[in-house]
Amino acid sequence: SDTRRTRAVTFGLLRRWGHILGLSQTRCVHCLRPFLPAARSCDAAADNDLAGAAAPLCPECRALFAPYRGPRCPRCGLPTAEARASGQEAAFSRPDPGSRCGRCLNEDPPWDGLACHGLYCGALRDALLRLKFDGELSLAPLLGACLLEASRCLPRPDALLAMPQYPAHLRRRGFNQAHELAKALHWLTGLPLRPELLRRVRPGPPQAGLSAALRRRNVRDSFQGARQASGLRLWLIDDVVTTGSTLAAACLALRAAGAREVRALAVARTPKHD
Ligand SMILES: [Zn+2]
Ligand SMILES: [Zn+2]
Repeated sequence: SDTRRTRAVTFGLLRRWGHILGLSQTRCVHCLRPFLPAARSCDAAADNDLAGAAAPLCPECRALFAPYRGPRCPRCGLPTAEARASGQEAAFSRPDPGSRCGRCLNEDPPWDGLACHGLYCGALRDALLRLKFDGELSLAPLLGACLLEASRCLPRPDALLAMPQYPAHLRRRGFNQAHELAKALHWLTGLPLRPELLRRVRPGPPQAGLSAALRRRNVRDSFQGARQASGLRLWLIDDVVTTGSTLAAACLALRAAGAREVRALAVARTPKHD
């Protein structure tokens, strides 16, 4: 599109001026320290997303943003109790087929699949908090790259959309962090972005401090899917999955609007349900 071309041209001009002025060293998007990017090789292909030009990470920070690969519930991404107790290191050495957590055995979540890049702790949590509460939108490409890495296990959808915010909340904050992440993923993949497919029609009181059952009751009927979602396979993007009750309500609204498949994609998963 025109905007895309204009941005590319502007970026190119800025880069050239940066080079002339000696500003063109690569800085880590997380710790802001300059570093020498490693030469690209085929072996580094797996790292390319997180070391890409859109979100350069120095080697130390790249390790901090490594994906969680320990055993987890295949439906909601919750790490198994052993993984939580023994830490991620031990989880790596003991691959588990990943049996469902108690909650998912009790009530299967309404999404067709779910992928999360990492656990909601450490550097990943810091970056998500900086994006959401400090408005550091410059972190969106990095976190979008995390989404891209997590999405590799999901089949390609027809379109992407973010968990919508209630309009009054959106006006107060000025941006929706989930939508910023969806935009970043849209830029990285070229997949169509369709925010108009889902609206948040009820604000719902703050979720923090409520029991899981109360949260579920609160978010029921909070969302409304658009008729245009009919027949589509969608990826629903969020920053963090906590209990999954808001995500479940949004999925149900999209299914009610006729969406064929809805898969959830988030940067991070809290290590516990609450
Ligand atoms: Zn760094
Ligand atoms: Zn589960």
